[in-house]
Amino acid sequence: MRIIRTIVELREAVRDAKRRGESVGLVPTMGAFHDGHLSLMREARQNTDLVVVSLFVNPTQFGPNEDLSRYPRDEERDAAMAEEHGVDILFAPSPAEIYPDGFATTIHIAGITDVLDGAIRGAHHFDGVATVVAKLFGIVAPDVAYFGQKDAQQVLVVRRLVRDLDLDVRIEACPIVREADGLAMSSRNVYLDPDSRQRATALNRALDAAAAAVERGERDAAAIEDAARRILADAGIEPEYLELRDAETLHPVARLDGEALLAVAAHVGAARLIDNHILRSADKGDDV
Ligand code: AMP
Repeated sequence: MRIIRTIVELREAVRDAKRRGESVGLVPTMGAFHDGHLSLMREARQNTDLVVVSLFVNPTQFGPNEDLSRYPRDEERDAAMAEEHGVDILFAPSPAEIYPDGFATTIHIAGITDVLDGAIRGAHHFDGVATVVAKLFGIVAPDVAYFGQKDAQQVLVVRRLVRDLDLDVRIEACPIVREADGLAMSSRNVYLDPDSRQRATALNRALDAAAAAVERGERDAAAIEDAARRILADAGIEPEYLELRDAETLHPVARLDGEALLAVAAHVGAARLIDNHILRSADKGDDV
């Protein structure tokens, strides 16, 4: 596996691969790898010839009071894990390589960024995400890019970016990878002390409770959300949001009819955690 730090070298490596007729897969990450990241790498390894993983803790998607400075970083460990998973190139640029002096462009995607994490973290968050992802697509020119459904709103933002700017890349969303007790894997889980780690399982249990309510026939959005809210309350967790929304537009839904996204965010101890389930009202083969 090569570790590449400059755009020029990365482009050269990709150009060589494309000349050989190889397809290119990109997995954008901020590092501190866990099985969620590795599942994306596995998917890329199976489906594309040249697998590029980017490792860049993107400063523009963090707010002034967020965890940029303490975000977990361990490039050596990440590089070893990526290599073990058959990654060809780890692209680990410096902030100055991505945002040189004079950098002046921001991509803002309207509508779907106004709600959920966009409402709580502020517009800068998804502006930062969209801008860096657009840059990574420009630098790597991947055929396929892999994202986790863990960040469901981010997947929608990236899909909208690709559609609106006619970017020639296919977006693959991969399922949420969880710990044995259901906690969605996240680089931020390292912030959890033992008590918070235990309480954090309430997020997924709350989503499960909502899914169970749906299975029992509940269709009213407020009642579905309440089923989840009760589990959080039992764990002493006050969510930043817990909302059932259209899985494509993120518009609020009053009743579950077909498919919807139940998304939650909450501070648990020192960590801000997010999770989500897709809920379906279909009668048969319900995979909620
Ligand atoms: P991050 O390094 O947190 O920016 O995540 C990089 C990519 O991994 C994003 O597309 C995330 O959605 C994805 N990811 C993070 N956690 C998980 C998880 N538990 N399961 C699946 N994908 C994940």
